[in-house]
Amino acid sequence: MASTQCLVVLFLITFTSTAFSRSILETSPKSHHSFTFNPISIRRKIPNDCDNWYCDSWRLSVETDNARSWTQIPARCLDFVEEYATCHHYSSDLEVVAKNALEFAKEVNVSIHGKDAWVFDIDETLLSNVGYFQLNGFGHVDVAALFSEWVDLAVDPALSASLVLYKELQKMGFKLILLTGRNESLRNATKKNLFEAGYSNWERLIMRRPPDMNKTVTEFKSEKRRELIYHGFTLHGNCGDQWSDLRGFAVATRSFKLPNPMYYIPL
Ligand SMILES: [Mg+2]
Repeated sequence: MASTQCLVVLFLITFTSTAFSRSILETSPKSHHSFTFNPISIRRKIPNDCDNWYCDSWRLSVETDNARSWTQIPARCLDFVEEYATCHHYSSDLEVVAKNALEFAKEVNVSIHGKDAWVFDIDETLLSNVGYFQLNGFGHVDVAALFSEWVDLAVDPALSASLVLYKELQKMGFKLILLTGRNESLRNATKKNLFEAGYSNWERLIMRRPPDMNKTVTEFKSEKRRELIYHGFTLHGNCGDQWSDLRGFAVATRSFKLPNPMYYIPL
């Protein structure tokens, strides 16, 4: 009797299991059509807000200089730029640029003559003015208006990836040239800020003097690089957040563009 009950139970289990499997097999095609299974959509959040895609594309156009001469961050991208500059994305991009620069620097045979040089811009290259934009708003791209007052405060922190690169290049024997569009009148504040941010022992700090005031950034920086070459320096690398830091004549062997979607300085 007991064995008969067992056979019945076994039959029921086998039947229901088979029937259930069949029902799955039969209904799967219908489910496939009624529910689009997209494994990517499960793993990755696709933002409903198209602004994120647009602003990411806009930022790419800025960094590649396709957007040249832009004067305003698009209104729909203000939050995007603020988030970019104040979250990990910006520092991550900077780290990649610094890594690329260091890889190239390691290929250079630095001589004992002390003339192998590397050029750095200052704002958004060695020092970060993100604090200025947090106070004044990220749409406030007219950096000239209140910028001198801000620089005079000498409170900018270092961009940490640049500080690491700076120190590594020094250890390797490069002479570090700081070439900035800041006015000569800001020399003391600039030196104070650089020291406090961790930078020291640069070879030269070149700033704009009165004869340079009517020159474009590209003209001014190109002329200063040419003078350096005239004085025997070999310019192996040049780091800057603006294309005007990197273009023109007497350019370095390699130029490294740091990201900056906050403002644009004309060529
Ligand atoms: Mg700069």
